[in-house]
Amino acid sequence: MKYDLLLVGAGLYSGVIANKAVKSGKKVLVIERRDHIAGNMYTGKVENINVHVYGPHIFHTSDRNVWNYINQFADFNRFTNTPVARYKDEIYNLPFNMNTFSRMWGVKTPDEARAKIDEQIKAAGITEPRNLEEQAISLVGSDIYEKLIKGYTEKQWGRKCTELPAFIIKRLPVRFVYDDNYFNDPYQGIPIGGYTAIAEKMFDGAEIKLNTDYFSDRKSFDECADKIVFTGMIDEFFDYELGELEYRSLRFETEVLDKENYQGSAIVNYTEASVPYTRVIEHKHFEFGCSQQAVKNPKTVITHEYPATWKRGDEPYYPMNDEKNNSLYLEYTKLAQAKRPNVIFGGRLGKYKYLDMDKVIIEALADAERI
Ligand code: UDP
Repeated sequence: MKYDLLLVGAGLYSGVIANKAVKSGKKVLVIERRDHIAGNMYTGKVENINVHVYGPHIFHTSDRNVWNYINQFADFNRFTNTPVARYKDEIYNLPFNMNTFSRMWGVKTPDEARAKIDEQIKAAGITEPRNLEEQAISLVGSDIYEKLIKGYTEKQWGRKCTELPAFIIKRLPVRFVYDDNYFNDPYQGIPIGGYTAIAEKMFDGAEIKLNTDYFSDRKSFDECADKIVFTGMIDEFFDYELGELEYRSLRFETEVLDKENYQGSAIVNYTEASVPYTRVIEHKHFEFGCSQQAVKNPKTVITHEYPATWKRGDEPYYPMNDEKNNSLYLEYTKLAQAKRPNVIFGGRLGKYKYLDMDKVIIEALADAERI
């Protein structure tokens, strides 16, 4: 064996494992299909602005150890995610908080907001929420559901809200205070200099081969290391032998505008069903407080994010974590244990889980111990 460890895919999960392995003296090979490392957190410079090429990535966590861990690799700015939602010509603050309620109904106090929501839950006749629609109405009432959730969610996932799991909407906080911070976590920010620099540090000391597809020569890759960490799609790994897992894809259209400030916010969500994109990202606003140069730049870079159906060969951005797909994934993990016990599956695709970056780090640190 030439290497102690082969990492397939060069995203955040692999980066954490690579860093630990190299530090403990292991010989590590990383192979990556794309022409760059850093996975979906990859940022590239356009007009001197760090562009989040695979969608907006805001680092946030409640775990002090994870925050300390990631701060070894970068300094973070004080960016706080405060996206706005646009429904036709109306603008609302997110997440759902007193600013949203007051704009929607003219209410001024938490009691008035609570009463409005309770009245709407009662009218909808929901007791035990059984799907995303019922969950959303029981959290924020039917007006907010109709204007800010239904259209966005159905285009994002390509399914009716009544056919989607409730946990997706529980990602968003609901608060009866005037607070537009999208996350509840005490630690939050964007790495100064972008995410790619974090990956460069994490993979330092490992051998990296870009533009290299594991499946193009799997026999020799399988034989080159004692252990393999695979961060691609587990169903592809097993040649879809138990069937196909479902994913949701995205398409990004990025352009440079001759303008200092296009939308006044890093993220604007377009919540109407008839607008084909879900959100518009203005990348320079992620640089808050760390680079006046970026903010004063006479140009700006924006990205329209379009949800897309996934078929083989497309980028699988989101796992569809409904019961059917989760149980198929479980079958694949059993197959993995039986057939390939020396392969560890990790990351959003290997674990088939809608994971935020901090959760990826937690799982990777735990798996690194095991490995
Ligand atoms: N969501 C919504 N309206 C919004 C923003 C989010 O209905 O304006 C719902 C939607 O179902 C989405 C989910 O909340 O899939 C989670 O949103 P989040 O911002 O966490 O998604 P991500 O940034 O991971 O794509």
